[in-house]
Amino acid sequence: MSTIPYENGEYTEINGAADKILLTKSKLAQNYLLEKSQEWNVELKSEVFAKKMDLNDPLQYLRGEFYYPKMGGLPKVDKSRINVNDDSIYLCGHSLGLQPKRTKKYLDLCLDDWAKLGVYGHYYGFMPWAKCDYPCLPTMCKLVGGQMGEVGVMNQLTTNLHFVMISFYRPTSERYKILYECQAFPSDSYAINSQIEFHGFNPKDAKLILSPRKDETYIRTNDIIDILKKEGKSIALVLFSGVQYYNGQVFDMETITRVAHEQGCVVGFDIAHAAGNIPMKLHDWNVDFAVWCTYKYLNSGAGCIGGFFIHSNHFHSKLPKLDGWWSNRDSTRFQMLTDIDREENANGYRISNPSIHQCAALAASLSIFEEVGIDKLHEKSRLLTQYLQYLIENELNNNQKCLSFQILTPNDPDQRGAQLSLKPVEITAQILFDELEKRGVVVDIRHDIIRVAPIPSYNSFFDIYQFISVLKTIDISIL
Ligand SMILES: *Cc1c(COP(=O)(O)O)cnc(C)c1O
Repeated sequence: MSTIPYENGEYTEINGAADKILLTKSKLAQNYLLEKSQEWNVELKSEVFAKKMDLNDPLQYLRGEFYYPKMGGLPKVDKSRINVNDDSIYLCGHSLGLQPKRTKKYLDLCLDDWAKLGVYGHYYGFMPWAKCDYPCLPTMCKLVGGQMGEVGVMNQLTTNLHFVMISFYRPTSERYKILYECQAFPSDSYAINSQIEFHGFNPKDAKLILSPRKDETYIRTNDIIDILKKEGKSIALVLFSGVQYYNGQVFDMETITRVAHEQGCVVGFDIAHAAGNIPMKLHDWNVDFAVWCTYKYLNSGAGCIGGFFIHSNHFHSKLPKLDGWWSNRDSTRFQMLTDIDREENANGYRISNPSIHQCAALAASLSIFEEVGIDKLHEKSRLLTQYLQYLIENELNNNQKCLSFQILTPNDPDQRGAQLSLKPVEITAQILFDELEKRGVVVDIRHDIIRVAPIPSYNSFFDIYQFISVLKTIDISIL
């Protein structure tokens, strides 16, 4: 589509090295906003600018593909201060993605098949149940950069983390540590703790937790490299996030994997906040495994079926794993063999038959990603987040009368996805959050920060403009 403004000129320059493309794009995201403001002769901070950006956004139509919550429907709004029929300011897709309108249609089709076909639905109908996870896989592969056969869907995220750790965390008396970041998502730390204990080690000795330097808000890649070089021989597993849930940092998965492999460590990533947010190349980067959920940036509905990646390097290695009838090849599963005839790819990790409801919901959402492509979404995402950052710095932080924020997330667009983590300076995050809820702004709070993420498929530049406008009207003195 030649109408994609972000696709013009250097934006689509594909010149081999993935990081080079990203670098080119990130510089341009900033420049693009400034250039547009000059070209239209409207100030970047003006309402007109936001609206013109939306008018010129070739992906704007996608918002119509989603149910976008109205202010009046939200439980905590103060109805005397909002207009119930206005769209809410929903900047919370990092926590729970909005519902695609087609989800209902896909679910209805599955339910109709069940009504009409009974058990025949396993092999006939819209998404034959015996293979209902398969329609999700081609798009999933593209989103994470896996080859067909390397990506599967099953269970939920933490469950999958446990199942893949059974294979990939193989501690010995010399090499037993797990390296990961501080403020990892609690469920991941619980999984790590319990896996370590399961193997008879002491979490106190076996956990190697890396923090940002004093007075810094995210971890430097060089510090990861240093610790890997220093402690590598005692590390069994390196298990960082793809995008860190708390501070929004994108870890350099390619470099971490390369350096960790040089030290003989296994490398996995929890890409819960990366899948559907940033493009990845898990296969090319030689990542050993990854796990993710699908209800954040992938809009499948809370608790929906999760994704996992197993690098093809491991298809024939005889790693221990837990089996069930769904680990069999499709062709022999219903022969009810005494001995398993295991599928020698990621699908061999499945244990039980997949849920038709969950696969239908996921397939519905993924069909949007398939139509648009993660690269275009990501380019718009960079512009949205850059614009959000610009307004925070120039409309709030520069203005004595307004709230100001420390941005914990890296400034460099190559080191972040959609999310910015904001620490209010003058008031507590809780007071701010309560106030925002009353005004129909949907973000979330974690400890002392609020997390804000504009989503390229359903957020507009005007949403961000309005968010900043609300923040500007919050009178610090009355709070
Ligand atoms: C959202 C999230 C989870 C949630 O896990 P479930 O098992 O799907 O409930 C776990 N880890 C991370 C990093 C997450 O972002």
